[in-house]
Amino acid sequence: MSEKLEQFVREVEAALAGPSDEARILEHVRRAMGELVAADDWLAPEMAVPHPQFYQQYLLHRDSQARFSVVSFVWGPGQQTPVHDHTVWGVIGMLRGSEVAQSYLRTDQGMQAEGPPQHLHAGQVALVSPTVGDIHRVSNAHHDRVSISIHVYGADIGNRRRHVFDLATGAAKEFVSGYANVRGAVL
Ligand code: FE
Repeated sequence: MSEKLEQFVREVEAALAGPSDEARILEHVRRAMGELVAADDWLAPEMAVPHPQFYQQYLLHRDSQARFSVVSFVWGPGQQTPVHDHTVWGVIGMLRGSEVAQSYLRTDQGMQAEGPPQHLHAGQVALVSPTVGDIHRVSNAHHDRVSISIHVYGADIGNRRRHVFDLATGAAKEFVSGYANVRGAVL
């Protein structure tokens, strides 16, 4: 593991060692993430490989007690997620390229866009959680190149049961994302 990633993992551990106040944890981790994505010079090439069809989520580190996980999220040109939630806190740092996130609210009339789309550029950091807003759709802002963001979540996110939402009806469907580089995700 690169020294920068190791340093980041130590910072998240330090954040979790304090009181379990989400706002405090998010602020600590947001600062550490800002430092991690300040320079694009540490991600292992095998954790940066796009797939021609699907966005990829590579596990970079899983806490031994599964309190948190760190992934690289690799976007091929034009790729996007479905509308989804996380069910835990998450901090997203843009390492390479840029992405666009649209937040949604679940209503009786289906999913309603909440606010304008947010652009995240290299070096910038964004937050998600059931408290600060947990439902969104994310896209590679570029149609001609790869973008990569680094995510940390307050759980083993690849093995977490969460939801995708039908845009028109708001119907929720359970999903488990897994990791592109880990076989047979254990539930
Ligand atoms: Fe997300």
